Amino acid sequence: MSMSVLFGVALIVIAAAFWNYRSRTKKTIDQLSVRVEAEKRNVRELAVLNDISSLLYKDLDEMSTIETIVDKSKDLIKAEASALLLLKDNKVAGLYTSIGNMPDLMDQPAGIFSRVMSEGMPLRLSGLKDKEDLPWLKGLTDSQSLSIRNLLIVPLILRDEIIGEIALINRTGGGEFTDDDEDLLLTLGFHSSFALEKARMHQEAMKLATTDGLTGLNNHRTFQERLEVEIARSKRFDHKLSLLMIDIDYFKKFNDNYGHCVGDEVLRRVACLLAESTRNIDFAARYGGEEFVLILPETTNEGAILTAERIRGAIAKRKMSIDGKDLSVTVSIGAASFPEDATDREMLIERADNALYSAKKSGRNRVVAYKDIVADY
Ligand code: GH3
Ligand code: MG
Ligand code: MG
Repeated sequence: MSMSVLFGVALIVIAAAFWNYRSRTKKTIDQLSVRVEAEKRNVRELAVLNDISSLLYKDLDEMSTIETIVDKSKDLIKAEASALLLLKDNKVAGLYTSIGNMPDLMDQPAGIFSRVMSEGMPLRLSGLKDKEDLPWLKGLTDSQSLSIRNLLIVPLILRDEIIGEIALINRTGGGEFTDDDEDLLLTLGFHSSFALEKARMHQEAMKLATTDGLTGLNNHRTFQERLEVEIARSKRFDHKLSLLMIDIDYFKKFNDNYGHCVGDEVLRRVACLLAESTRNIDFAARYGGEEFVLILPETTNEGAILTAERIRGAIAKRKMSIDGKDLSVTVSIGAASFPEDATDREMLIERADNALYSAKKSGRNRVVAYKDIVADY
């Protein structure tokens, strides 16, 4: 073999080896790029998930926790719309969506929602045309002219109980929901369940701390705080404000005659009547024992006396049927107003109390204004 042929063969072998090396390297680079892209996506999603979780754990308000879950679930996994179904004792407690317009709620979860609820497993559906199986979503999406192509639903599980479901509608970009999407939504669901429970517990704790256990009205401490706020507001806007102090007459005797349990029921009924006969801006509270207070913002002394008379008359007229007996009580009411009778909270309470004392002394079942006892001196 001549040298030139040998040289030619060697060249071909080297070229083939180089070609082989080049295509293997390209394949490796391509594989690495795919992995880098996937990792980048993972990092991005985890960062978003991390942001959402810290947002959820910080928030103590139930409604804004719900809004965060609805908004962020569809941002985390790009979807056209999202919905959050809340369940309590296997009944629907609420349905919240990113596309507004709440449809009429059925008591029981229907269609695919009941499937997720009974199986406790995520559900992924694609190629959807028939909406018959999607009662609530149909109502919603029809009004938005949004046709459902695919769907991802995960259950929200808290201590083995399904407390809700998150649904994502239509992955954006036309694709279908993937295994990764399902895993990610399950993780978000896990955080959401705890966040919802925490917000609910906070709400209950707040309620316990601010209301009176027997009557359900605001308690003494909440009243003091509110009166301080209302007086500050009155000062700022140069508005009037009035305070009524209401005390049941001869209640000790009433308890002695009918028993403490009947007495408790009367306190509940009087509280209910007070709550019913006040405006939204008024603030009723149990001051203690058989005494109640009513803050009347933006109300002059004359207006307060009218309200007090209306309440006194309504209570005196009200027959309360308790334990088969028709019972009734009367109340005495003292009224004082800011700024004419007092310059601060303590003084206003004291003056309303002085007026109440005067109402008791002058015969009970009556309303007395502080300005009238001052005028009598
Ligand atoms: P007055 O007309 O002067 O207000 O007389 P009164 O008997 O209503 O006033 P007094 O302050 O002497 O008694 C208040 C009574 O209210 C005594 C107490 O047994 C009763 N009372 C206070 N808190 C409760 C309660 O939570 N439940 C019941 N059933 N009674 C209560
Ligand atoms: Mg009393
Ligand atoms: Mg009293």
